Amino acid sequence: MSMIEKVSKWIELFGEKVTQNKETLNKLDTAIGDGDHGSNLTRGAAAIREKAEETTYDNLSKLFQDVGMTLVSKVGGASGPLYGSAFIEMAKKAKETEDIGEILEAGLNGIQKRGKAEVGEKTMVDEWAPVIDHIKSGSFTDEIIQESLQNTKEMKATKGRASYLGDRSIGHIDPGAQSSAYFFEALLDSGVL
Ligand code: ADP
Ligand code: MG
Ligand code: MG
Repeated sequence: MSMIEKVSKWIELFGEKVTQNKETLNKLDTAIGDGDHGSNLTRGAAAIREKAEETTYDNLSKLFQDVGMTLVSKVGGASGPLYGSAFIEMAKKAKETEDIGEILEAGLNGIQKRGKAEVGEKTMVDEWAPVIDHIKSGSFTDEIIQESLQNTKEMKATKGRASYLGDRSIGHIDPGAQSSAYFFEALLDSGVL
């Protein structure tokens, strides 16, 4: 499979995972947010699938760009613009390199530029940052994905809706970290790396 086919597979698998786990994501978001994270991303996944069906890609950057624009325009809430910014920055970086670690790092920078969250604030950043470190050092495993996810449980949210709960956000996995875990599981399954 070509790189572009593998990346298409990655995005398709991510969409399948969020769709299959829509209720799990909504439940996590009910505990510390407004209960819509799974619904938001499932809507995005359907729009991405539609776009992919009508487009033939010969260019990685264009694929990431379309995913990013679709997420920004079709997914409401915090997560649409955040995932959208990630993919748009990934599209820019993909013009320079095919190195997935570097591309994902640019995506993380996009998330942080938009959402201003640092590591430890109980957001998707707490999944992306450690996973990318391991991808870059060649030590990326499913265990890292799950460990990073579980680590969000004991964090206190200081960004996004969950921050309204203060200390009561402690003890729950962050929904955006869970969807990001699906994103990185899909990466592992796709054969991109
Ligand atoms: P909303 O909170 O608007 O309903 P979602 O439920 O779709 O949006 O997404 C919530 C997730 O978005 C959170 O679990 C968290 O991971 C992520 N998030 C929220 N705010 C930020 C931020 N400022 N930076 C990074 N991620 C954030
Ligand atoms: Mg929500
Ligand atoms: Mg919402």
